[in-house]
Amino acid sequence: MISTPPNGKFTSREPTPRKSPGNSSSKHSGEKVRKGLDFDTPVQFLKGVGPKLGDLFASRGVVTVSDLLEWYPRAYEDRRSAKSIDSLEEDQVVSLRAQILGIRTIPLGKTHRKLYEVLIGDATGKVSCKFFRVPFRGYFERFELYQKVRVSGKVIRYQGRIEFHHPDLAPLEDPDQLTADELRPIYTETEGLKPGKLKSLIALALEELKVSEKLASTEAFPVWMRQKFDLILRLDALRSIHIPEIARAEQYQNFKSPAHRRLIFEEFFWLELFVLGQKKGYQQEISVPFPTLTEKIQSLISTLPFALTQGQTHALDEIFADLAHSKPMHRLLQGDVGCGKTLVALLSAYQVILHKSQAAIMVPTEILSEQHFKNAKKFFADFGVRVQLLTASIKGADRQKILDDLKLGDIDLLVGTHALIEDPVQFRNLGLVIVDEQHRFGVRQRQRLKEKGISPHFLIMTATPIPRTLAMTVYGDLDVSSIRELPPGRSPITTRKTFESKRKQVYDFIREHLSAGRQAYVVYPLVEESEKLELKNVTDGFVQLQLEFPNFQVGLLHGKMKPLEKEEVMNRFRTNEIQVLAATTVIEVGVDVPNANIMLIEHTERFGLSQLHQLRGRVGRGAHKSFCILMLGHAISEEAIHRAEIMEQTTDGFKVSEADLEIRGPGEFFGRRQSGLPGFKLANLLRDTELLQEARKAAQELLSLDPDLKKSEHQLLKERSIAASEALIG
Ligand code: ADP
Ligand code: MG
Repeated sequence: MISTPPNGKFTSREPTPRKSPGNSSSKHSGEKVRKGLDFDTPVQFLKGVGPKLGDLFASRGVVTVSDLLEWYPRAYEDRRSAKSIDSLEEDQVVSLRAQILGIRTIPLGKTHRKLYEVLIGDATGKVSCKFFRVPFRGYFERFELYQKVRVSGKVIRYQGRIEFHHPDLAPLEDPDQLTADELRPIYTETEGLKPGKLKSLIALALEELKVSEKLASTEAFPVWMRQKFDLILRLDALRSIHIPEIARAEQYQNFKSPAHRRLIFEEFFWLELFVLGQKKGYQQEISVPFPTLTEKIQSLISTLPFALTQGQTHALDEIFADLAHSKPMHRLLQGDVGCGKTLVALLSAYQVILHKSQAAIMVPTEILSEQHFKNAKKFFADFGVRVQLLTASIKGADRQKILDDLKLGDIDLLVGTHALIEDPVQFRNLGLVIVDEQHRFGVRQRQRLKEKGISPHFLIMTATPIPRTLAMTVYGDLDVSSIRELPPGRSPITTRKTFESKRKQVYDFIREHLSAGRQAYVVYPLVEESEKLELKNVTDGFVQLQLEFPNFQVGLLHGKMKPLEKEEVMNRFRTNEIQVLAATTVIEVGVDVPNANIMLIEHTERFGLSQLHQLRGRVGRGAHKSFCILMLGHAISEEAIHRAEIMEQTTDGFKVSEADLEIRGPGEFFGRRQSGLPGFKLANLLRDTELLQEARKAAQELLSLDPDLKKSEHQLLKERSIAASEALIG
């Protein structure tokens, strides 16, 4: 019982109300809470945390002392004392002893703003310290000419000269004393909380914990595990992550100190234990087996105008093998856009339907559900499969009829959006659930749909391929099938970035292809004009495109349109009544129009890599050479150009994913809550892959040693793991 708390219900942790101090006997004596302080003590019991700060903390998820200590430094600054001014190098962060040589105020042009300059010097030279605002009232008045000071800050090169901007400047108390070497933790700043305050609260908490009597028993990891995996005590780790040793500066800066090792390992460990627990749970479930009906499947395949790719065949073999078992399938089917996952899904559904059971396909958008629905209807036309569509916009009597049919078993395959799980939808016998574009669905949604059947088999499909190590973590409870190749006969897509100054050439290029009978997508980041952002919006774009291509039909498609209107536009684009489609990202997933061979993306800088890849995947679906043109706006960052260049260099979805993950980090990449991927506080899936593997190994060893966590040395761990899984399931 690792994945489910005792009451079988997952509740999120409530902040402890401030008014009930519980065990605090010191409440009336006014003396500091000492004996009572432990990790679970509410943070407002710390001296210096008033109601206001308490609220601020609460809004940041910091409720207990433990939460406070998990406000980890995001970086470390190595402030070794510099020997002399002439040894300063650009970008160094240093501390330095010097003497004040002058203080002056310089008006900045016509504005009322001023620049404050403190000139300092030592025997080897002079350097200017610039302030663009007064740090606090009386700041500059503290200093006298020729006074000895300590200066700490980053060395900047400005107009060819070395200087400091907003350094820490403090009178040297003991002029003979050298400035101390310091490895300084840097915290993410938050409004209303000064870094200094945060630091002193953390120091106070650590100090109090040191004398707390309760702490000996708070170490959740048993001795064997700490020894085997080289883990220091949690309390020690918490201490030294906030109070780092300069001798290990490099380790700290790379998040590789023993403290980091312990705390990162721990984050991964809870996840892995959770995932393994889930897997164990699934394995105990029993579902209906669907033995493979080879002949019938083959006869459906033989109606296709093409042969299955090797990847498709292989994936199908794996899926069919799973379906034939009474253990529910939990399989992830991953493959790049256009590799033909839909076909695999439909054939899997057919297997189940042949056994008189029902299947459901859940997709993230209505457009996509309509497309899947049409596809499926056509695909099964001669095979007696009753397919139905259910979305939020199907209402009233129509909806009731569908719900009734479904309950009676008069529908074999139900295709739909979230509506499938959010409505009182009941199946007669749901045997297989397929979720397309998995990364948009969370663990909970996944479970809810599953609950509609008696442990149905479960297939999730994603076109955002995930690096292997990651798939293992995030989907550790899933088996993975990958389709690595695209169907033959696809011509590769050429991707080029371009700029506003080349717009005319871009339109000429598109016109040429339209004249040759092709179609084009033009994608915009916004629906309507936005004054603030001055971005090209799809509504204006639609007008402009009509002017630009008077001999062709231009269509408009965006998420704010009614479902029926959208469907109508999509249909007209599919049948080539519309040649140019001005759209927002509603077309991002799954839309399939093989004759369209140009994808122009406006304001490319506004899109993430995976999104660009998805959009690009809308073309290159037919035999015609396809192009993806990335138009970059005026005010663009280097990162945006870098992203566009990655797109130019590769069409391999796996590579794009990896680069995306690197740029954005896992939280953004997966869309936190939705993916069921926890927001790690310290761990980084890319940086810490090795630790991830070790944590997984540790979790496996623990479970083989003590499957139900009954041993006394594992009791604390068990307790913690329950809390951790609650947090994970969100
Ligand atoms: P995905 O969902 O993986 O992005 P689709 O299932 O939409 O890809 O398939 C893209 C297109 O390729 C569809 O038009 C589909 O009919 C076609 N297709 C699928 N499998 C094959 C195959 N083996 N050979 C040729 N075309 C295929
Ligand atoms: Mg698809």
